[in-house]
Amino acid sequence: MELNLVMLGPPGAGKGTQARQLRRKWNIPHISTGAMLREAVQAGTPLGREVAVIMESGGLINDDIITRVVTERLSQPDTRSGFLLDGYPRTIPQAESLDRMVGDRAPLIIIDIVLSEGEVVRRLASRMVCAECGTNAVGEGAACHDCGGPLVPRADDRKQVVLNRLKVYRDQTEPLVKYYGSRQTYCRIDGARLPDDVTADIIQAVEGVRPR
Ligand code: AMP
Repeated sequence: MELNLVMLGPPGAGKGTQARQLRRKWNIPHISTGAMLREAVQAGTPLGREVAVIMESGGLINDDIITRVVTERLSQPDTRSGFLLDGYPRTIPQAESLDRMVGDRAPLIIIDIVLSEGEVVRRLASRMVCAECGTNAVGEGAACHDCGGPLVPRADDRKQVVLNRLKVYRDQTEPLVKYYGSRQTYCRIDGARLPDDVTADIIQAVEGVRPR
């Protein structure tokens, strides 16, 4: 049975970090809409040119645009054994679209990583990303663990932008906790711990609810 995972949680909660561990564990593609959009911006594609300014301000790009990107991605054959969505859905209309996309595929399992606002601000102030491959928060040294590229602060991790992203999260994304909260496949995870402990919790929770 395919394993269809959705990571929820505020910016900086560790969604990307956890997703990189989990994709190895279950061998399913990690689909990060933020990473896909950053790649499009870097490559200067029409999509990238359309979303660059909004991304820099920490706002959300239009539901229809991002839903088109995700629909296309989820139709690729590598998602047949499942997927790990990171950064989508971020609004109720996106969640409704995702439910339609999933249709009668295996049910979504929601991993909601919970972290306080104070901790979010503290973490994002020191977050680095790879300038070459755009991978999020990899490695503690000067180079990316994945490709060896240099690590730089993320453009939208500046203080003012972080505060805006948190507000956007609170207003538009947090309602998803209610949207998904009553499902049997909703897993609430404490994100304020060491990454390996969080990973272990997620694996245990997912194994407990996954359909067989
Ligand atoms: P992330 O790496 O997930 O924090 O995403 C970085 C930025 O990409 C966000 O601040 C948004 O501007 C944009 N973005 C990513 N995913 C979405 C989405 N599902 N809906 C709207 N905007 C998105």
